[in-house]
Amino acid sequence: MEEGSKRRVTCTILSIDHTDMFYRVCGVCERTLPNPSSICHSCNPPSKRLFRFLMSVATDTEVLTVICFDRVAKLLLGCSADEFFHFAKLHPFSGVTLNEIMEGEMFTVTLSKSMNANAQHIRVASAVPLSSSFQPAINLLKQCYQTPHAS
Ligand SMILES: [Zn+2]
Repeated sequence: MEEGSKRRVTCTILSIDHTDMFYRVCGVCERTLPNPSSICHSCNPPSKRLFRFLMSVATDTEVLTVICFDRVAKLLLGCSADEFFHFAKLHPFSGVTLNEIMEGEMFTVTLSKSMNANAQHIRVASAVPLSSSFQPAINLLKQCYQTPHAS
């Protein structure tokens, strides 16, 4: 793949690295904060989380590790990073279940190789589910963790 190039492929999700899914940004300007106690503005606005995780996908010719940022991740998961973080705190096996839900899901994705030499991973620039019955993972997670006797 050429530097800065994009390509569209159909791929199947193999796994999502659920152990490292978020990074923190300034709640106002969304600048990345180097650590949770960093302050971006003198008024010290609250920070928020955005998604950033690695995903292993298979195309018809290769297996790739790609990086998924907030916009695409929200489409796959169906909620904000903060919402997912709090859900996963209540349900510690959410990450494992997320993998069970997403494994085998097929997408047409646009992969983009960054011009930035520091970027190690191919980025998922967009993802469109192949199945018309695709549901964002959070919907299924919420069904999974419903108490069986809830009315
Ligand atoms: Zn800021």
